[in-house]
Amino acid sequence: MGVALMGGTFDPIHIGHLRSAEEIVSLLGLNSIRLVPSNIPPHRSLPGTAATQRLDMIKLAISSNERLEVDDREMRREGRSYSIDTLCDIRFEIGKERPLYFVLGSDAYQLFSEWHRWQEVTRYAHLVVIDRPPIAEGDHRAGLPKELEIWSEPKQCEIEEMQRCPAGGICHIELTQMDVSSTKIRSMLATGMSTRYLLSDSVRRYIDEKELYR
Ligand code: ATP
Repeated sequence: MGVALMGGTFDPIHIGHLRSAEEIVSLLGLNSIRLVPSNIPPHRSLPGTAATQRLDMIKLAISSNERLEVDDREMRREGRSYSIDTLCDIRFEIGKERPLYFVLGSDAYQLFSEWHRWQEVTRYAHLVVIDRPPIAEGDHRAGLPKELEIWSEPKQCEIEEMQRCPAGGICHIELTQMDVSSTKIRSMLATGMSTRYLLSDSVRRYIDEKELYR
């Protein structure tokens, strides 16, 4: 059985994360997927919310779904949260044979060639890229950087091929599209708009109690 990871800042975790994670478990034929919140994301400004609070919100959001798990290793690791370090760790733990899937949205994939040791990622895992609706910052489905396009082209494959080997493939998948992002939710919260049905009720209560994102 393979292992799937979805990294991110989860500031806060929303239905786009949850529904995508749920669908990926079925699509890849897994029992579960691990959400891996970053402590210090290397490629963006430090999240406004404490790592422990982002972790608390994930735990609340997934508490009733055994198909979604949280892996807090990046929170326990000092320094920047490089995905390659996490993937090396997990590959070591699961052994050489089992498929390891690293799931990311197309917005994150667009910037992938700026990641630390990005070309090594497929030595440890497959990349599963979720098509994501364009967001305010621009259409990330526009062309990929040339270097990334050339590197990724020979690695493109179908899910069935990924399931047969431990790492090395890249596949693009379309899930139920949800035009929601943490950025959008933070700005809704800051302006006092309702976030009902975009966040889990337990997460909304937590945000209220802790007076986050005001
Ligand atoms: P922000 O707006 O703060 O950048 P975000 O909503 O993109 O946050 P992240 O925590 O950065 O959320 O995302 C974690 C992962 O989940 C990324 O790979 C991202 O592309 C993916 N993701 C986030 N929102 C969605 C969505 N609505 N549909 C599909 N994938 C998503």
